Amino acid sequence: MKLFSRHQPAFARKSKREIPTGLWTKCEACSQLIYNKALDENLRVCPKCEFHFPLTAHQRLHLTIDEGTLEEWDADLTPLDPLQFSVPKPYAQKVVEEQRACGMTDACLTGKGLLEGREVVIGVTDSRFMMGSMGSVVGERLTRAIERATEQHLPLIIISGSGGGARMQEGVLSLMQMAKTSSALMKLDEKGGLFLSILTHPTMAGVLASFATLGDLIIAEPKALIGFTGPRVIESTIRQKLPEGFQRSEFLLEHGLIDFIVQRRDMKDTLARLLQLFRV
Ligand SMILES: [Zn+2]
Repeated sequence: MKLFSRHQPAFARKSKREIPTGLWTKCEACSQLIYNKALDENLRVCPKCEFHFPLTAHQRLHLTIDEGTLEEWDADLTPLDPLQFSVPKPYAQKVVEEQRACGMTDACLTGKGLLEGREVVIGVTDSRFMMGSMGSVVGERLTRAIERATEQHLPLIIISGSGGGARMQEGVLSLMQMAKTSSALMKLDEKGGLFLSILTHPTMAGVLASFATLGDLIIAEPKALIGFTGPRVIESTIRQKLPEGFQRSEFLLEHGLIDFIVQRRDMKDTLARLLQLFRV
């Protein structure tokens, strides 16, 4: 018998306003309905409030790396199921479903490519794949990318978009990835390497608490949710109302966690200028 079961309502309640699927998207920040084509043309940024919608890892790479120059690394690494975890469903089955839905073998892509003609190592996490959580494959791919950036004296850029940190189905193996990526970054730093960390909506939990906040520069997209634990959990734990805009890029810039906020349309140019400035 299942420990928890959801009661199916006898009848489904109709929402007050039906939105035709596939044509419009509702902005989660200002509730504006946006025509999908217009949203895509605006790089998936809300034209009313400038909320930056999450992008897929492939869309990120398309916006960041020069066309046709990406050499993807370690795409053949796939998750194992050492704990035989099966709540609420077998992990192995869940992984296959996510792979089919997202067209990726796990929640991040890494590789080497050109950015405005400059060779860089890049890693991108994708919040669609199990919330972008850092399982052993994500940790291993990122660590190898960091180590190759160190060996090849190349600048490293990691764009984080992870609503989850640890992947519970991998238990302590997932938690170890925080130490592994952090330790590889320390070696990159000792060799004088440059790491630009870009935080996008959402960057949370173990991803934020490890590699994502270890950048030489930490850059965020506007209005991104960035934090360790979600605001509702914090509020219910401390029983206090959190300040307005808590855990958003603008609040964190004011409080010193991030260095600057860059609009999506300006991100590639900004990165190119930074690479020129640091000349690593
Ligand atoms: Zn909006």
